Amino acid sequence: MNHELFAILCSEAEHRHIHGLLFQHIVLCPTRAWLHYHRVDCYHLNRHMKMGLWLHETAYGGESAEPYFGAGIAPDMLDFVKREVSEVKKSKSHEAAAISQLRFYVAVMQEVTGEPWVGMLRYPSAKRTKRVVLDGPAQLELLEAFAQIKAVIELPVPPAKVEKKICANCSYRILCWGLGTEDEDY
Ligand code: SF4
Repeated sequence: MNHELFAILCSEAEHRHIHGLLFQHIVLCPTRAWLHYHRVDCYHLNRHMKMGLWLHETAYGGESAEPYFGAGIAPDMLDFVKREVSEVKKSKSHEAAAISQLRFYVAVMQEVTGEPWVGMLRYPSAKRTKRVVLDGPAQLELLEAFAQIKAVIELPVPPAKVEKKICANCSYRILCWGLGTEDEDY
């Protein structure tokens, strides 16, 4: 992707308040992307989300990035020496969605600094990392995800919900399926 395309993508994302999490949601569920963009949030009701927040705060000694570049990105870690932007994950579940988000972060960091950056997915529980580079195919997928996000958020109502495995742990399951958002432990 040339510099001009990066600049357009980043500027349009900032103008439309399209941030990193939407790049995850669009891969997982367009309904979720629409609900999140239009500020229908149920995170506070879901213990899986609470666990994710706790992990982010504790796994790397609380080293995390502040929300960065306005509403654009809020990565878990930024290393300006290695030029690495990182996301901390609980498990490999939904890795494609995490990669989508990280590609957007890499694009923003490259645009802002004018230098090449890489993304790192960090799995502290498994002591494992995965490197994410913004090569040609990744750039195309980033642009496709961005186009999908724009198409979805412009809809007057959410896209039709489709039941899938992730619904069981989605904070919107109370809205979509009338299911309680707290699990019971047996
Ligand atoms: S409950 Fe399922 S259909 Fe509804 S937003 Fe979540 S993932 Fe999408």
